Amino acid sequence: MHGASERALLLGRNEVPPVHELQETGRSPFLFTCDHYGRLIPRALGDLGLPEHELTRHIAWDIGIAGVAEALSKRLDAHLIAQRYSRLVIDCNRPPDVASSIPIVSEVTTIPGNEALAREAAELRRTLIFKPYHRRIDEVIDRRLSDNRPTVLVPLHSFTPVYAGIARPWHIGTLYHRDTHLPPLLLKHLRAETDLVVGDNQPYAVSDVTDYTIPVHGEKRGLMNSGIEIRQDLIAGPSGQQQWAERLARILGEIEAGLRAEGLI
Ligand SMILES: [Zn+2]
Repeated sequence: MHGASERALLLGRNEVPPVHELQETGRSPFLFTCDHYGRLIPRALGDLGLPEHELTRHIAWDIGIAGVAEALSKRLDAHLIAQRYSRLVIDCNRPPDVASSIPIVSEVTTIPGNEALAREAAELRRTLIFKPYHRRIDEVIDRRLSDNRPTVLVPLHSFTPVYAGIARPWHIGTLYHRDTHLPPLLLKHLRAETDLVVGDNQPYAVSDVTDYTIPVHGEKRGLMNSGIEIRQDLIAGPSGQQQWAERLARILGEIEAGLRAEGLI
C-alpha cells in the first residue's frame, strides 16, 4: 500500500478515488468495466499543459459511455466498475509498461505534462490510479468465482466518429481476441438490428500489447468476454445514451437467455 505522503503527491485527500462502482450486488452474469469512463485530472497535474478543448475531446476519455454504462448497469442489475481519471493521466486499458500507457502524443496532440516524465512520477500514477482500478476488478472476479456466480466480462467503450481525418461508418463494434463464445453471439444479435452498421473488431481489435482489461481479466481468468464500442456522436447526449442502454439491455438479455439455455452460464 502507498503511504499518505505519497498519495498527497498526486491525489489530494479531498479528491475523488479512481474507482467508481454501481450495482455492486447486482445479480446479472454481466460484469461491466469502463476503463475510459472519466476525464478527471489530479490537481497536482494541472491541465497537463493542454487547453480545455483538448481535455474534453475523445483523447481524454470515451465521450458518452458513462451515461450508457450507468443506465445499462441499472437496467440489467449488473455490476459496473469504472475509472474516473483521464486516460491522458494513465490509460487503464494499456499494459503499464508500454509507451502508450502514459501517452506523449494522442492522435495528433502532444501532451506536455507527460513529456520527460520521471520514473517515480509515472509509478505514482500507476500506484494511485491504474492499480486500484485493476485490483478492484480482480477482487470482484475472485469473489464471483468463489461464490460460483456466472461472470461474463463486457468492457464498455466509445470511439470517435472521425479519427485522423478518416470517417468511420460503424455505429457499434465488438472488441475481442481469444474468446470464441460471446463475440460471435454478440455479433449475430447486433447484426439482427437492421438499422445498424456493425464492426467486427472494428474500429479496434484487442491485442496483448494494446489492451489490458480483456487479456488480463477476461482471457487469463477464463471468462467469456467481448468489449463493446459505440460511436460517440450517437451517445453524446442523455437521450442517445438512454436509447443505447435500452437496446443493449434487450440484446444482452437475449444473449443471457441463450447462454443459460445452452448451459454455458
Ligand atoms: Zn475506451
